[in-house]
Amino acid sequence: MDKKIITVFSNDTQLSTESRVLMVRLLHDKGYEVTREYTDKTSLIVCIGGDGSFLETVHKCDFPDCPIVGINTGHLGFFQEIHPSQIAEFVENYDNGNYSVQELNTVEYTVTTADGTTASNYGLNEVTISGHVSTTIHMRISIDNKTIEKFSGSGITVSTSAGSTAYNYSLGGSIVDPRLKVMQVTPIAPINTTAYRSLTSSIMLPSDLPLGIHPERAKNEICINYDGITAVYKDVTDIRVEIPDRTVKLIRFKDYDFWDKVKDKFL
Ligand code: NAP
Repeated sequence: MDKKIITVFSNDTQLSTESRVLMVRLLHDKGYEVTREYTDKTSLIVCIGGDGSFLETVHKCDFPDCPIVGINTGHLGFFQEIHPSQIAEFVENYDNGNYSVQELNTVEYTVTTADGTTASNYGLNEVTISGHVSTTIHMRISIDNKTIEKFSGSGITVSTSAGSTAYNYSLGGSIVDPRLKVMQVTPIAPINTTAYRSLTSSIMLPSDLPLGIHPERAKNEICINYDGITAVYKDVTDIRVEIPDRTVKLIRFKDYDFWDKVKDKFL
């Protein structure tokens, strides 16, 4: 039987480099082939770093089909499962099949511009829509093609459950258990005066209700940020945000508990 291929990515901190060397040696000892490049033959991706490195890996591999496991050598490490001191235990558990795979939902936006062209991208944490260079954005927001509000403010973020602990949380949004397949729409500095009325709290949408965003001043440039990557569009007529079929598969071991992690990282 062919050896399984494991692709290991790491950032370049000293701890990540040391963790990588140990990981590669232990995987070789178990008979795995280890590569630096992801291909469709990769059966597992190991990402050594923090959440930033994890998101970068997910995008670099274009939301891979195979599972990913994160070794946390970064600051917060919300996605990361393993501490560097647990690498030997991880290799043993993985080799023995002592793990489960958790699927995390993503969000997808599709932007349409006045000339009829469309562009789409995915976010594992969120998609944030704002005016370009800190301008106020005015937009009509619809749910399932029915107008819900006319929003004015700095923008909105549409987060996944897994992304609820990221930018969404800093904006005052709720923390959502990743087992729930929902999108959370959180306003960024909404204007709420007699001139403009915008919802000031988050709303939560089920997976079958797409969100529509219709800029009111179409000539403005609109900035869409997905997981820290920025795209700027001109003459936007319409943006649709929804939960696609695409998921990110994370390796989890028996001690993993989302709410323990919340307590550990935030309280
Ligand atoms: P970044 O420096 O890579 O990340 C900013 C912080 O967010 C880091 O501490 C990172 O953890 C943490 N983080 C990322 N995903 C998380 C998650 N699902 N749950 C909890 N914390 C998480 O920033 P970036 O390159 O601009 O964008 C990456 C992400 O950062 C975005 O998707 C967005 O959610 C978040 N962000 C947050 C703010 C804010 O809170 N004001 C502003 C902009 C962006 P590590 O330290 O482990 O990397």
